[in-house]
Formats: sequence, structure tokens, C-alpha cells
Amino acid sequence: MREIGIAVIGTGFMGKAHALAYRTVDAVFAGSMRPVLRVVADAVAPAAEATAAQYGFRSWTTDWQSAIADPAVEIVSITTPNILHRDMAVAAAKAGKHVHCEKPLAPSAAVAREMVEAAEAAGIVTQVGYNYLKNPVIKLAREMIKAGELGEITNFRGIHAEDYMADPEAPWTWRSDRSGGPGAVADLGSHIIAMARFLVGPIESLTADLQTLVPSRPVSAGASERRDVGVDDVARLTVRFAGGVGGSIEANWCATGRKMQLGFEISGTKGSLVFTQERLNELMFYRTGGDRRQAGYTRIEAGPQHAPYGLFCVAPGHQLGFNDLKVIEMAEFLARIAGGPEAGPDFREAWEIQKVVDAAVASSEAKAWVKVA
Ligand code: NAD
Repeated sequence: MREIGIAVIGTGFMGKAHALAYRTVDAVFAGSMRPVLRVVADAVAPAAEATAAQYGFRSWTTDWQSAIADPAVEIVSITTPNILHRDMAVAAAKAGKHVHCEKPLAPSAAVAREMVEAAEAAGIVTQVGYNYLKNPVIKLAREMIKAGELGEITNFRGIHAEDYMADPEAPWTWRSDRSGGPGAVADLGSHIIAMARFLVGPIESLTADLQTLVPSRPVSAGASERRDVGVDDVARLTVRFAGGVGGSIEANWCATGRKMQLGFEISGTKGSLVFTQERLNELMFYRTGGDRRQAGYTRIEAGPQHAPYGLFCVAPGHQLGFNDLKVIEMAEFLARIAGGPEAGPDFREAWEIQKVVDAAVASSEAKAWVKVA
């Protein structure tokens, strides 16, 4: 099995998820390349050192440029705040390294475009962390839609709601800083926009209302000093897909009580599909016709019949989790590097997602319908 050297930049929520996925992927997906955790970089030295020790990286550094330059590194995973993605991705592309970058790709579509151009000029493989698309039941949903199981699609209702910013005393973080891009519409909205594009197709135009519910936050946990928030807490979009299907999308990080409500309801003339990441191993399917007394939703439960579930667990109903989706994502990324099919979302698709985010901001400012660029 060919070994491939990995650098992970950032050791927060996603840095750890990437490290774990790289450690696991070749055990689950026999025959894939074997990642070797070469170097982890973080601006905070003790965090880099502790992550290296815990996950088995061969070295650590506070200098991300040296991590990229390491000749043993072939893949760079970028898991830092969004404002840092561009410089890191462009440097990695110029050094000829394949890049996995967390979502949203960039603070704006214009910056995302620079990243696409750098990656495509270098001929590297790219992947962006839209892990929820890697769920086998989401792939099934897409197949069912393509096969016409729902008939003509008539509506998409999507939401990504969590509550990690609902408390007005939750401290100001890099997510509150407008220079890193908009708020909930980018942080959570990009996930459900990615889902909408994956299942229904490109979004052509939209109107949006972005709202900041908490205008200032403590500079750190428990501090009396507050700092202004420059971004939205909630975004409500009405969208039109190319081809005419209409829908709505909500992104909300102040949705009290919600921890992971990434969900959708897709209606069609012959059926509908309902999903929520809160129950990520289930897809609800309604089909018209048949005995009306028996009409109702069928709960499709994930099992080995939904590849690659069976590689994780032989028994149906035992359930995949968030980190398993990240392992699937890394398996597809490695397979692409090995010459396999495009799995995506790559930088180009992430740029398209970013255009929808930008359009939502523009629409909210103009209080008008806008075309997605
Ligand atoms: P985090 O704040 O937990 O971690 C960010 C890390 O980057 C920290 O360890 C920080 O010290 C480090 N860092 C900051 N500046 C750096 C620098 N100059 N050099 C090296 N390291 C630096 O953030 P997070 O929640 O892990 O989010 C990181 C990225 O992942 C963001 O783009 C975010 O949108 C994305 N994300 C994706 C998902 C998903 O489901 N795919 C979930 C959460 C976050």
C-alpha cells in the first residue's frame, strides 16, 4: 500500500477530525493509500505539540509554511479560520501539494476564485469539507431523485440550524469577524446550500434576509468588555433553482435547542424525501399511489446495503456517525489522488457554493431578488 505524507494545519474541532480520519481511512477502506501523519501546524505551540503526541504526527510546528514545504508532505489539510484558507491553499498549490480545505472555502466568491485558479494551474486534487454529502443515505437520496422516484421536483425546503451562538454571552470568535466572511449564512448556510446543489442542482436566483441578533459579544468567556459583531446570526433565503424549482433555505446559529438540524424536505409530484442530520442514518420516503389507507412515510434505515456503510459495520441499524462521514470523505479524496473518479466537492464546486452565499449577502443589503453570479 502506497504511503502518502500528510500535513494538517489547525488543531481545533476540524484539525482533530481530519487527523482522526487520516488515521482510520486505510483500515476501513482496504486498498486505499496509507496516510502518514507527517506534521501538524498550529499557531499555538502547546496545541500543536499536544495534537502531535495524541494523534501520532511525526513532528509539529507553529509555522504552517514550513509544514507545506516539508518534502515528505503530499497532502495539506487546511482546518484554520476561513480568512486564512486562501494564503495556505495557494501556497500549497504552488508547492504542488494536494489540498483538502475546510468549508466555507473562502470569505468571498472572489477569493474562492483565486484559490480555484491556483489549484487548477497547479493540477492538484482538491477537496472541500462538505462532509454531510458523504452520508450513504444522502447519496441514495440523490440516486432516487435522478431516477425519478419523486416525479417532478416541486419544492426544496432546507435548514441548517444550531444554537452555539444563541447565548448573547457566548464570546466573540473568529466567526464573528466580518473580514473572514459573513456569519451563519456562510458557516452553516454553505452546508445546506451544498446539499441543495447536490440534490436539486444550481441555484439561479434568490432573495435573502440576513439578521444579526446579538450585536456585540464578550471579548472572551465571562469578560465584561464587549466587541461588535460584524456578521449575521440568521439568514432566511427564498431560492429559485435553474429549471424553475423553488425553495427556501434557513441558516441559523442562534436556534435555541438545536444542535445539528441540517435537514431538508424535497417534494415532488410522485413522492417526497425528508432528512435531518439529527437522525443521520435515516431517510424518510413518501410515495404517492397504492392503498390510500396505508399512505405514509417509509423510514429507510442505513445498513450495509448502502455502501460504504458495510465497511464500517456489518450490521444494519448500528449507525454511522459524524467522524465516519469524514473518513468516507478522506477515502474519496485519496482515491481521486490515486486516479479515481472526481468525488468532490472540489474547489470549483465550493466556489459555486460561495457565489450563493455572496448573493444572499447582496440580496439582503439591496432588499431585492438577485441572480447568482
Ligand atoms: P477552531 O477554532 O476549533 O480551530 C482553528 C484552529 O486553527 C485553532 O487550533 C487555531 O489555533 C488554528 N490557527 C489559527 N491561526 C493559525 C495559523 N496562522 N496557523 C496555524 N494554525 C492556526 O475552528 P474549527 O471549528 O476547527 O474550524 C476550522 C475550519 O473548519 C473553518 O473553516 C470552519 O468553517 C470549518 N469547520 C467545518 C466543519 C464541518 O462540518 N466540515 C465543522 C466545523 C468547522
